[in-house]
Amino acid sequence: MSMKKKVLSISFSGLMAFGAVTAVGLPVGAVGNGPNTGGSIQTSILHTYEGMVDYLKVQEAKQKELELEVIGQTVKGRDIYMAKYISNPENPTILFLTQQHGNEQLTTEGALEFIKHLGTGKTKGLLDKVNVLVIPMLNADGAMGDVNFSLDNYLADGDRHLTRANANNVDLNREHDKATSVMEPEVRVLHENVLQQYDIDYMIDLHHQGTRSAVDDKLVSGSILYPTNANVKPEVLEGSKKLGAIVYNTLDSTGWGHIGKYVGGNGENIGRNGAAVRYDISTLLFEMRGMSDHYYEPYALGQKSNGYLIKQTILTLDATVRAIADGSIESADTSFWDTLPEQYNLPAEE
Ligand SMILES: [Zn+2]
Repeated sequence: MSMKKKVLSISFSGLMAFGAVTAVGLPVGAVGNGPNTGGSIQTSILHTYEGMVDYLKVQEAKQKELELEVIGQTVKGRDIYMAKYISNPENPTILFLTQQHGNEQLTTEGALEFIKHLGTGKTKGLLDKVNVLVIPMLNADGAMGDVNFSLDNYLADGDRHLTRANANNVDLNREHDKATSVMEPEVRVLHENVLQQYDIDYMIDLHHQGTRSAVDDKLVSGSILYPTNANVKPEVLEGSKKLGAIVYNTLDSTGWGHIGKYVGGNGENIGRNGAAVRYDISTLLFEMRGMSDHYYEPYALGQKSNGYLIKQTILTLDATVRAIADGSIESADTSFWDTLPEQYNLPAEE
C-alpha cells in the first residue's frame, strides 16, 4: 500500500470519531465548489476547550513520546496547552499553531486527530527524525465565546459562539511585532515560552477565511502564503516556500483540494511575518475555507464541508512532518509559487 493510501485510511478512520460530521463530510465536491454555506452552522459538534483538554490527556497517557506542556494562561485563566514530541533536540522542529482566531476551529479538530495519528504504528520511526510541537486552540476564550463583548449578532447554532478576537476584543494575529511585555497574554506566552524557548525551524499557522474565495472560477478549499515582510532573510523565505510546496503538492493531488495563493499583509504584526523576522522560522499561513461562527454571513460555513476541511488539516500536518523527517523538504520545487493564482472573491449566491 502506498504511503498516501495509508494516510488516507488513517484519516478516514480517525474522522469516524466525529460521527455526524464525517457522515456528511466525505461525498464529492463539498469543499471547493460545494454549496454556499453547506447546511446549518452548528458549533456543538466541535470540541469544547474542556473536551479538548480531556482528549489531550487521554492521548498523553497512551503515547510514550507525547508530553503536554501548559505554556501559560488566557485572559480568563484557561491553561494553554502544547503537545510536544521531542525525541532529540538536534532534530529539525516544526510548530503547528491553531485558533489564534477562536472562530476558526476545524484546524484544531484536524490537529487533534493528527496527535492521535502520531500515537499509532502508522507513523513508526517518524518521530525519531523530527520534533513536532502542536498548540491547538491558542485563543481558548474566543473559542468558547467567553469574552468581554456582546455576541448577540453571531450566527451559529449550538451550545456556544466562537469569536475571532480574544476576551479583550483584540485580534491576536496583529500582536506579533510588539515587545512581549505589552502583548495580549495568549501571544505573550506563545513568544516567551515557545518561540523563544525552542529551536523551531518551521511553523504552519492554521486559519480559516471566508467561504467565497476562489481561483480559476472555483471556490478554494484553502489558500497559502509565505512570509512577505521585507526583513525576512532569503533562506528563511526559501524554507517557507518549500514548506508551501509540500502542502500544495499533497493537497493538489487529492482531486478535491483546490489551493490558491492568499493575499495577505506585509506587517510584522502578523504571525506569519513576525515569527519569520524575529526568530528566523520558515512559516506558512494556511487559510482554509469558511469559519465556524461569525456575525457576517459570507464568512461562516455550514457543517457539510467539515469532513473535508478536517482531512485537509490532517494531510497537511502529516505530509510536512514526513517531508521534514526524511529530508525531502530540502529538495522541494518552489517554482509552483510563480504560477499559483492569487485568490479573489466570488459574489455571494444570494
Ligand atoms: Zn484567522
